[in-house]
Amino acid sequence: MTKIKPAATHLSSQTNNLKTFFQSVSREHDGESLIGVFCLVFDRFQRVNANFGHEVANHLFAQATERLNELVSCYGRLFHLNSFEFCIVLNPLPNKQAIADVAQAILQIFSQTFPLANDQETFINASIGMAVYARDGFDLDTLLKNAHIAMLRVSQQGGNQSLFYSMAFNVGQSNFTSLETELRKAIARNQLEVIYQPKINIQTGQLTGAEALLRWFHPDHGLISPKQFIPLAEETGLIIPIGDLVFHKACRQLRQWKAAGLQDFTMSINLSARQFTQLDLHQRLSQILIDHQLQPQDVELELTESTLVSQGDASIRRLKALKTLGVQISLDDFGTGYSGLSYLQHACFDTVKIDRSFIRQVQNNPANAIIIKAIIGMAHKLNLKVIAEGVESQEELEFLRQFNCDEIQGFVFSRPIQAAEFERSPFMVNAFERLFQNDKSLILAA
Ligand code: C2E
Ligand code: CA
Ligand code: CA
Repeated sequence: MTKIKPAATHLSSQTNNLKTFFQSVSREHDGESLIGVFCLVFDRFQRVNANFGHEVANHLFAQATERLNELVSCYGRLFHLNSFEFCIVLNPLPNKQAIADVAQAILQIFSQTFPLANDQETFINASIGMAVYARDGFDLDTLLKNAHIAMLRVSQQGGNQSLFYSMAFNVGQSNFTSLETELRKAIARNQLEVIYQPKINIQTGQLTGAEALLRWFHPDHGLISPKQFIPLAEETGLIIPIGDLVFHKACRQLRQWKAAGLQDFTMSINLSARQFTQLDLHQRLSQILIDHQLQPQDVELELTESTLVSQGDASIRRLKALKTLGVQISLDDFGTGYSGLSYLQHACFDTVKIDRSFIRQVQNNPANAIIIKAIIGMAHKLNLKVIAEGVESQEELEFLRQFNCDEIQGFVFSRPIQAAEFERSPFMVNAFERLFQNDKSLILAA
């Protein structure tokens, strides 16, 4: 594809090419296969303009377009529609999943940063709306219109995702207020809360810690999942104040529980990519630990493989710097990326957290069973603790116990719950009972 210059002649020739390409693909169509039509927009690209100026923005736009075009050419064709919007027409594919996989592959290429001058880097994310021929329309105009509606829906939900068009999107569209504005208000109005999911030692059944998980209690829309707003918070930079808020709340809670006598309890806190690249992260975290009088080893930071991959070589330096704080570090969602193993060799991690996708129905999935066994064996040889996340059933639990997994987290024991409920949970009660049994003076004092 030629470099982007949004001149009228260029656009009209793109539109003609698009029509011709669609006609040829739909003629090849065999009636059984599906043709995906995507509408893609670079999320909040105006901000790049505002932050870095036109010249850098143009260069970034060209780089992002090139990256996009390279991938799309394996599956179909890319067309520039206007300013930051593109249309992608895919060659026929056997099913909807195959179309969704292409969208996923596109989003994946944007998980890598773009280099800027002075050793800096930035992210560009994309929102993709998908329509399918002939389910969502027989002609290109209708398909594009519907893909565009789906794309707007993704943008409103924070971007950096893909979504198939649904007729239901046409209802109530105008009432939707911007999630970003709402999120800013949520921070000011204290609508963000941290809840806790227990981590359990799989051999003894005892409580070993908790993962702090964010929730947004919205007065009108109810509970909003972090999956919906963390990508937006990342994109807009709001993750920095939100991340601080989570650290403060989780550390304050840990301090309270420790003051009440709880021992051998680690608080795990998620760290997103943007937080990880914060220049003063080390200083901020050490100040929070001091403010709450915590030992660094009582806190564990959870970092995903994709966060590390997105930072390239710099991530090893950053990991090592974090390690000097004395906190524990866990490799979250292990197995879902493609370079987790290479990070393990740098000895920065204390824990490997096996992703839920391997745990689900492991008793009926011999391939996943082999993978889990291999991960546990390897991690133990490297002196790493292994925790399985998303354990839902007794069968999954039994498998993990047989494989010598160390800890588990999942609905089989408890969903993430509010602090007050956590304190009443049988695990917490047991933890305090154990404490009282070991220390007679505490029993007398109680
Ligand atoms: P994650 O770090 O992988 O967190 C685990 C997710 O799995 C949580 O989703 C948890 O509720 C869910 N989960 C736990 N046990 C089970 C189970 O047995 N079955 C199933 N189906 N799910 C289970 P949640 O709370 O919706 O969080 C989603 C993601 O949002 C987290 O994934 C994390 O990436 C992000 N997140 C949540 N809180 C924070 C935060 O404070 N900071 C940052 N940066 N990210 C956060
Ligand atoms: Ca996590
Ligand atoms: Ca995880």
